[in-house]
Amino acid sequence: MSETSEVIVPEAAGSETIADLARKMLIQLGEDPNREGLRQTPERFEKAMRFLTKGYAQSEDKILNGAMFSVCYDQMVLVKDIEVYSMCEHHLLPFFGKCHVAYIPDKKVVGLSKIARLVNMYALRLQIQERLTSQIAKAIQEKLAPQGVGVIVEARHLCMVMRGVEKQNSIATTSAMLGAFRENKQTRDEFLSLIRDAKP
Ligand code: ZN
Repeated sequence: MSETSEVIVPEAAGSETIADLARKMLIQLGEDPNREGLRQTPERFEKAMRFLTKGYAQSEDKILNGAMFSVCYDQMVLVKDIEVYSMCEHHLLPFFGKCHVAYIPDKKVVGLSKIARLVNMYALRLQIQERLTSQIAKAIQEKLAPQGVGVIVEARHLCMVMRGVEKQNSIATTSAMLGAFRENKQTRDEFLSLIRDAKP
């Protein structure tokens, strides 16, 4: 099994549910979990956390298999401004922004919507932005075997901006360049200029 196709199965967390733990956390924070506004919060929190980590139960095989097509097209394919919402694994706080994915096919392409789904799958796992970026690139490299793939993620991290670690507007940018995107400056420059082009 390749690194990108692994499905991480969380270890059993004992008998306490996430809702139980959230209730305890509220008490530790000095709150009264029985007051009206918080009464259903532990259950809502559990539901939200399950949703925000549902990418663990998905795999790139399921998303991409059956969605790849043979073509005689060898120009750059670009999907830009894919919205990304993920959670940093260091603080369990959201980071969000945009992802741009490009590749140059070598006989195989994939449905464009599948690329956004792939991004979303990795985003719905606890992440650091660097790994999110490289996992997307590696999955496309392994499944499509293109001439190259480039991925750029631009995101704002609430763990930074809310805690005042960085200036409120700082955006972290990460990139993963494989194949032609790594070896050929012209290809990389074309990708970067297409991303910077004014939005339609
Ligand atoms: Zn963080």
